[in-house]
Amino acid sequence: MYAAKRAGGNQLDTFDPKRHRAADPTGLLSDLRAALDRGEMRLHYQPKVCGRTGRVRGLEALLRWQHPTRGMVPPMSFIPLAEAHGLIVPIGYWVLDEACRQVAAWTDRGRRLHVAVNISAVQVRQRDFIDRIAAKIQRHAIDPSLLICEFTESVAMDDVQRTQQVIDQLSAMGVRTSFDDFGTGHSSLAMLRQLGAHELKIDRLFVKDVATNTQARGVVQAVVQLAHVLGKRVVAEGVETAEQRDVLVALGCDELQGFFFARPMAPEKLIDDEATAPVPFSPSTFVEA
Ligand code: C2E
Ligand code: MG
Ligand code: MG
Repeated sequence: MYAAKRAGGNQLDTFDPKRHRAADPTGLLSDLRAALDRGEMRLHYQPKVCGRTGRVRGLEALLRWQHPTRGMVPPMSFIPLAEAHGLIVPIGYWVLDEACRQVAAWTDRGRRLHVAVNISAVQVRQRDFIDRIAAKIQRHAIDPSLLICEFTESVAMDDVQRTQQVIDQLSAMGVRTSFDDFGTGHSSLAMLRQLGAHELKIDRLFVKDVATNTQARGVVQAVVQLAHVLGKRVVAEGVETAEQRDVLVALGCDELQGFFFARPMAPEKLIDDEATAPVPFSPSTFVEA
């Protein structure tokens, strides 16, 4: 079915085990098909820090695949594969379910942490996407405003009408939305105005040189001003140094995220450290599990 769809759709194809094996010479795909059932997927969480106070406001959920023999497989090595073979749909719903479960568990412990979940283009195209998010929120009885759906800018541009519909329906439910990797896609100013996302995440590419290059700084400054004029919040991704942090705060970024503050980590680690640290999520207290 996916081969037929990839070839443009509206045509027949037949299953051929030889071709199947050829398409998966390393066996990664068949391992991926079994990974959810075997409980090999985990979510790690990376803090998003308030620019003004330096305190953690929320977290981004990042998928981790703990493979029994290959070790930790990074998302960029398996998400494109999962997208190409339709596996991102069940995996994506598992991510949403697990993130909502975690939000509920933290809420029960008196911590209102909002969690951002990455959503793939394939998920956005699913007809029942909104209903299934609503079902997850209901199942775990969480406050919908604690959930943020991150779409990459290129996903949004892929099908602007559908993206707008999804953003509007999520907003009506109280779920917030964010444009990830902003600046690397192809959004026009008109579309940015039209699409009601709550937040822009400035890509690491621009953050990297912000402390050393006046042009990079100018681009970030312009994006922050643009976002604020449009009533959107700005998150800077990939902050690695104190110099970058200082510049980004001075430019008015609302939230910052990056290794300078903390790496993505297992949820148990996060809360234990938060309970003991005088300044929440001090960078020295965290290492990636
Ligand atoms: P993203 O959503 O832009 O996530 C940020 C990535 O940057 C994460 O990589 C994070 O570990 C990394 N990062 C954070 N701070 C820093 C820093 O200071 N320096 C550097 N060099 N990197 C930093 P990760 O976890 O490998 O994820 C890569 C991408 O995989 C994500 O980019 C996202 O597009 C995708 N992804 C992750 N989890 C999911 C998921 O559950 N569903 C979907 N559809 N995609 C996901
Ligand atoms: Mg993201
Ligand atoms: Mg990003």
